[in-house]
Amino acid sequence: MQLADLKWSDVASLSKDTPVVFPVAALEQHGRHMPLFTDSLLLGEVVRRASEKLGDRVLFAPLLWLGNSDHHIDFPGTLSAAPRGYLDMLETLAENVLVHGFRRIVFINGHGGNDVPGKQAVFELRQRHRSESGLLLLFATYWLLGGKPHEVNREIKQQRMGHACEWETSMMLRLAPHLVGDLSKVQPVEFGNPFEPASRGWITKDRTEPGHIGDPRFATAEKGETLFSVFADDVVRMLNRVIAWNGSDWSG
Ligand SMILES: [Zn+2]
Repeated sequence: MQLADLKWSDVASLSKDTPVVFPVAALEQHGRHMPLFTDSLLLGEVVRRASEKLGDRVLFAPLLWLGNSDHHIDFPGTLSAAPRGYLDMLETLAENVLVHGFRRIVFINGHGGNDVPGKQAVFELRQRHRSESGLLLLFATYWLLGGKPHEVNREIKQQRMGHACEWETSMMLRLAPHLVGDLSKVQPVEFGNPFEPASRGWITKDRTEPGHIGDPRFATAEKGETLFSVFADDVVRMLNRVIAWNGSDWSG
């Protein structure tokens, strides 16, 4: 169910064990062939499919389109909440629903730059509410929930998320093909190895001139349908685990 559609009295009558989901995405450059709103459109579709399957068992807040995209800010049109401000915003949203009595809060993420502040937010929230029991605070990125799209559709070449890549371009071709530019002029950009397994600080200009990372030329709408269905199923599976949690176990 959608928070935006409810009256406050409807929210008051919900079980406090109802998981509250905050979908978090971005508005940032996605190469010369994809729109700035890519991450928000794609996560919106993943969440829409998941919410249809979950019905009244999960409460979805509206998608937060402003993400931490500082690394893309050199590309015109990108809008970014700087990391520390973004961290505070995520924590504030969680604090709001804690005031309303909810105990299970899940951020479903659709943008890589939100990963570090998002994990820091759930970590800090737990420290601040350390005397409370029955709290479940999760941050989950939709393409990292275990699904392997390339094993479902063998035509899919890419095996991890890039940027405006085969995966994202395929999903956009499935969702809104009129927003995808001419792919015949797009050149592949390698993922490279940025001193792995160390974690390197980076700006997008370090890695790519056009803005994408990966090979969008392999994108098709059919692959996009596979990707959406794998990722939506993964989100449903994760939220079913949240619903089934007994309120005290470490494992879930
Ligand atoms: Zn993206």
